[in-house]
Amino acid sequence: MREIIIAGNWKLNGTIPETESLLKGLLDGNSQNDKVTVLVCPPYTSLHYAHKLLEGSHIKLGAQDMSAHEKGAYTGEISADMLLTVGARYVILGHSERRQYHAETDELVNAKAKLALAKGLRPIICVGELLEQRERNQTEEVVGTQVAGTLSGFTAEMVQQSVIAYEPVWAIGTGKTATPEMAQEVHKFIRERVAAVDSNAAQTLPILYGGSVKPGNAAGLLEQPDIDGALVGGASLKAADFIGIINAV
Ligand code: PEP
Repeated sequence: MREIIIAGNWKLNGTIPETESLLKGLLDGNSQNDKVTVLVCPPYTSLHYAHKLLEGSHIKLGAQDMSAHEKGAYTGEISADMLLTVGARYVILGHSERRQYHAETDELVNAKAKLALAKGLRPIICVGELLEQRERNQTEEVVGTQVAGTLSGFTAEMVQQSVIAYEPVWAIGTGKTATPEMAQEVHKFIRERVAAVDSNAAQTLPILYGGSVKPGNAAGLLEQPDIDGALVGGASLKAADFIGIINAV
């Protein structure tokens, strides 16, 4: 039995009042499911406050990115140590929006992931193809390259501490979801690729699906053998929807 993770990526949403209201909705609602690790990833500015609100609860805390540098003259960057001191234990890395708008490469994501692991943060490493790449039948080539690049130099222990999220870029925030079968095919492919690093670690590695996951489509995706949870954007901003996804497990 692999760990199942439902993670909310709040993106550029979540002022302090919004954070308070959303987290209270999750804490007061039926968001605890013993089968599931529940995680929220608010923006940096809300992490400390979220940590205080979530202390002692079942909801874990993650960040949406971090610097590849430990400290120093990198204006605007946030370090792994800074995240740890505000209670984050997970960090999303290589999200397609970071790749698209901030030119992040597999090499940079790999450096960030290694630093996160060395510091004790659990990376959620995102991979996924663009629409035109899928249409040209390049999904496996693109995703295979991303997996190999972002996990380059990983030991079995490093894989064991990590999470991968498969997010087809054409399904993010568009309302278009990969069918459960389409997603399963890529998840299985990713697990086989990771098995090249270590076959046991590949078997226990949670691989999350992301891309317009909603309460109504979550169950079909989550029942696939290689889909071990969801990275949820839009639907994680409404407590009732996020709870609906948690309870679809
Ligand atoms: C995401 O940003 O990781 C995501 C999957 O977004 P959405 O659920 O809105 O498609």
